[in-house]
Amino acid sequence: MIPKLSLLVLLGSLAAAQTSTLKEVENIYPQAQKFYIDVHEHPELSGQETETASKLAAGMRRAGYEVTEHVGKTGVVALLKNGDGPTVMLRTELDGLPVEEKTGLSYASKARMKDDAGHDVPVMHACGHDLHMAALLGAADIMAQTKNTWHGTLMLVGQPAEESIGGAEAMLKDGLFTRFPKPDAAVALHVSNEYPAGIVAITPGVYNTNSDSVRVTIYGKGGHGAMPQATIDPIVIAARTILSLQTIASREVRPGEMAVVTVGYIRAGTKNNIIPDEADMGLTVRTRKAEVRRQVLESITRITKAEAVAAGAPREPLVEHYEGTDLVYNNPALAERLRAPLEAALGKSNVVTAEPITPSEDFSFFTEQGVPGFYFSLGGADPQRYAEVRAGGTRLPSNHSPLFAPDLEPALKTGIEAEVAVLRNLLEGTSADLKKYHD
Ligand SMILES: [Zn+2]
Ligand SMILES: [Zn+2]
Repeated sequence: MIPKLSLLVLLGSLAAAQTSTLKEVENIYPQAQKFYIDVHEHPELSGQETETASKLAAGMRRAGYEVTEHVGKTGVVALLKNGDGPTVMLRTELDGLPVEEKTGLSYASKARMKDDAGHDVPVMHACGHDLHMAALLGAADIMAQTKNTWHGTLMLVGQPAEESIGGAEAMLKDGLFTRFPKPDAAVALHVSNEYPAGIVAITPGVYNTNSDSVRVTIYGKGGHGAMPQATIDPIVIAARTILSLQTIASREVRPGEMAVVTVGYIRAGTKNNIIPDEADMGLTVRTRKAEVRRQVLESITRITKAEAVAAGAPREPLVEHYEGTDLVYNNPALAERLRAPLEAALGKSNVVTAEPITPSEDFSFFTEQGVPGFYFSLGGADPQRYAEVRAGGTRLPSNHSPLFAPDLEPALKTGIEAEVAVLRNLLEGTSADLKKYHD
């Protein structure tokens, strides 16, 4: 039993921890907001985040971190050593998206860039990675100013090319965990309009989905549109294939298992009276279980090839798996451990438990190196607007929308507070304490 007096002392110190974090956030907030607006106005595409990376690096250097740039092309690594103790990694993404911003904000992006195919495209931070960078920098400032509240090594990672899946792997290949200390735990967050600003959501266990990208090339025999008897029409084969692929999730996978097969594009032909030689399709596949993932990918290949055989195609179709990432997994015990400091910092009602989501992430590349991970969600919606649209049965714009715009001040402040609370909790004790969260 806890004596009354020490209970009071304990409650008092919890309240003090809460207000002191808030005050710390207030002190550095103007700087974090300024950084946010700058990167929001000047977004860069995946793999081309040179200005963004150098701004982030400059902010980290100013805060007293030892900074290395160009890790995995445009990635940034910053270390702050503060005596013995665990090494904890906090990660932000750097990249924007080829989306034309339509938020009408005074600091809306007007940026344009050349994408990897050489096309001139509009660019926007439509996924909120600008907010992740500003939160990380704010947390970095506070941690550097309050070294008496933690010990160990804080490792900040600015990861490029998350949207194109590849940045995490590129950083690892460039020695992220060999040239720099391998962390005992890795932390990241993602903002969305799924929750009002002020709230964070924890998902113990599976957080999202495995993602696989598949490209299919169907070969036919081209000819005159008025003489189909002399051709083998790859467009008709593609059309049949698309419909057959829909039976994977509905007929082949056990009901209740998660599986999505989407054909996101189909390209074929040049003119209405020409039957082309080839048809190309691009698929995205989402699953949760490894065996379902294997089953779905095998079924895609089987169905695609069989439809071509049925049509008498001259060549077997090409089925290329060109990109993939594993789901993000939150060690359940670690997620439960971190609930307490988050509740202490933000208030109990502002920390909720959430179901897994379907969009994917390459954060799993880090955790699959044997690093326990904690990836949580940050509310971004204006609380009043959120309540209004929910009452009306609609939703606010999602990430990747030209209208995506977090309610900046409360979302950013909560992001900073949450990160500081999580980092302080992990950066106490020893690295051996965090070993038990290895899966
Ligand atoms: Zn995104
Ligand atoms: Zn994102």
